[in-house]
Amino acid sequence: MKFINDLNLRKQAENLGVKIWQTPGFLFIILGLVAAIIMAATYFISKNYDSPQVLVISESIVATVILAVGSSIINLFEQVARINKMKSEFVSVASHQLRTPISAIKWSAELLLEKYNKGLSKKQISDVKNIFDLVCKMNRLVSDLLDVTRIDQNRMIFRKKKFDFKKIVKETINESSILAEKRNIEVNASFKKEMSLGFGDPDKIKLVVENLLSNAIKYTPSGGKVDIRLFEKDHFFVFEIKDTGVGIPEEQLKRVFEKFFRSDNAARYQTKGTGLGLYIAKNIIEQSGGKIWFNSIEDIGSVFSFSLPCHNGKMAEIMKA
Ligand code: ADP
Repeated sequence: MKFINDLNLRKQAENLGVKIWQTPGFLFIILGLVAAIIMAATYFISKNYDSPQVLVISESIVATVILAVGSSIINLFEQVARINKMKSEFVSVASHQLRTPISAIKWSAELLLEKYNKGLSKKQISDVKNIFDLVCKMNRLVSDLLDVTRIDQNRMIFRKKKFDFKKIVKETINESSILAEKRNIEVNASFKKEMSLGFGDPDKIKLVVENLLSNAIKYTPSGGKVDIRLFEKDHFFVFEIKDTGVGIPEEQLKRVFEKFFRSDNAARYQTKGTGLGLYIAKNIIEQSGGKIWFNSIEDIGSVFSFSLPCHNGKMAEIMKA
């Protein structure tokens, strides 16, 4: 099926934003044609000419054609890599530039709500709260974009140390309680009393837990349930979050950790979202020595899980070195 799709050159050109003759499918066909012509020509020449000069000349022509096609493919890859780098740099510069004004608006809205709210009417307070909420969302988006460019350029810095994983999970659940209440979602969590310490960058792990929990709440209809489990297995922590939400359509399951992926049903159900959270989460977990995985059935629910080395585990020792 993918092979047939690859041969739909016009669709491929539209998807990649290039001319038809620049698509990988077109180059694939040209390479195939060149190989067939070369085979036919070699057969014809070896059958009809005994002379070594003719063979040398024909072999030189074949080598030149292969070099020409190869060089145009390399040029194309170089162009794609250059454009990709320029795009990452643009996103990085734009996000950095947006950070200062966003922080200033956030700070002013906070000040208005906390210090100068006495002079404001109810309507004005509600408007400032609205500005504050929107600016927090912009802040989140800008941070996500910066994280994505750091991941793409291999520049994400991890400050690894031992940390209390249970505390992070509890904190995140408390911080999300307002959202859960607003959406009428019951959040339950179970932990063992005594748990080892984790090893990794606590701020980044918290980001992952926040993302998985906010997704579970966001994509679960009112009245639904979210269950969180944290347990230890073979010197690893396993964090598991199960919801009774909208799930992910079967044909889209393999794209879940792709950058900017949003499933059709979720985009219809929840218009807000960027499709960056799980891409960032996967990178953070894998760079911390863990694994992330999920199961999901449309209209039934999803279970997202990740593992992370315990502080005293073998993996943590390797990551520390
Ligand atoms: P966002 O939530 O901002 O769209 P994410 O990267 O966090 O981005 O998630 C990517 C997509 O994966 C979501 O848009 C949604 O389609 C799907 N998804 C993630 N978590 C869940 C979940 N718990 N239930 C259903 N779909 C989910």
